Amino acid sequence: MKIETIAIHAGNFIDEHTKAVIQPISLSTTFERGEDGEYPGGYVYSRADNPNRKSLENVIAQLEGAESAAAFSSGNAAGGAVFQALGPGVHIIAPDDMYHGLRNLLLQVFQGIIEVDFIDLSNLEAVKNGIKSNTKLIWIETPSNPLLKVCDIQAIAKIAKENGIMSVCDNTFSTPMLQRPLELGCDLVMHSTTKYLGGHSDVIGGALASHEDNDFWKKIKNIQVLSGAVPAPFDCYMTVRGIKTLPYRMRAHTENANQIAIFLSSHKLVEKVYYPGLMNHPGHDIAKKQMSSFGGMLSFIVKGGANEARKLVNAVKIFTQATSLGGVESLIEHRASVEGPGTKTPQNLIRVSVGLENPIDLIEDLNQALVRMAQL
Ligand code: PLP
Repeated sequence: MKIETIAIHAGNFIDEHTKAVIQPISLSTTFERGEDGEYPGGYVYSRADNPNRKSLENVIAQLEGAESAAAFSSGNAAGGAVFQALGPGVHIIAPDDMYHGLRNLLLQVFQGIIEVDFIDLSNLEAVKNGIKSNTKLIWIETPSNPLLKVCDIQAIAKIAKENGIMSVCDNTFSTPMLQRPLELGCDLVMHSTTKYLGGHSDVIGGALASHEDNDFWKKIKNIQVLSGAVPAPFDCYMTVRGIKTLPYRMRAHTENANQIAIFLSSHKLVEKVYYPGLMNHPGHDIAKKQMSSFGGMLSFIVKGGANEARKLVNAVKIFTQATSLGGVESLIEHRASVEGPGTKTPQNLIRVSVGLENPIDLIEDLNQALVRMAQL
């Protein structure tokens, strides 16, 4: 089956009893046993598994070309399950531009348990040199949040394999529509399903998908059930519903982002645009090799400092000034103040999640906001 067909059918089952075309939401926390003590419906207790979660995991596994998937209550819970499964005393290599929530999870919650070095993954020599005797995992994020840095997934997965190390790719920005890390050699792929997979800014969730149902994966599935950071059936239903339109949404997100990136690139008040679809992006060739298109996320640097950047995000009318990404509505944010103290993100960087509005309206909105930024 092609990816559009998988997105619609792999997470949905026609209800056996009512013949409802859309799978019902099973709110029950527990499932009746038969006289023989068995569970004839195949479910025991909803933290362990439930029909809506199974459907969500099924569609994500199929979209990523994975043997198995596990759904979590957030993207961070999914990432945390990987770190927990590694156990204490290991070293991991993570991107120098890692999503700040996962970076903080490693630095604050796993402090003293996991050793981590943040390395520029676009520099393969630096990756090789960063490997230590206790390195067990390379965490990949490409394009990265918020600098849209691109690294070569296949090359890093190869380095990892040659050194007996696992590689995991946070595929949140790209989704399986644009980039399929397991086909490029990664062991695991991670998602904040809160973003494009859900697609409507109304459900928090996360997922992992594994190339193989191996011992490490069994550990993760055990952590999913025993730690219990699982999504509610309603959240699974919402995410499955969002995924059905993912292939078409991603095409439109990319088209709109591309037009906005071109507009911003030629604006005199914009110093730099970070979008892998632009020919002058340092990772453009690698992005072209490993992505089918370049996605809906971009960042740009305005002339001036934090003041100018804040003026701009306050002057937009169609964009909403808010964090997060991947919804149908366009969002804009002054990223450094979202990341907080200690951030390395430039103070004049603005991150944009390009939505599905008409790109002419979005460009006009940015244009008037840039004019007002200069006037205020
Ligand atoms: N990974 C990336 C790239 C993200 O942008 C985010 C959230 O913004 C996460 C992971 C964490 O996801 P969640 O907020 O669902 O925990």
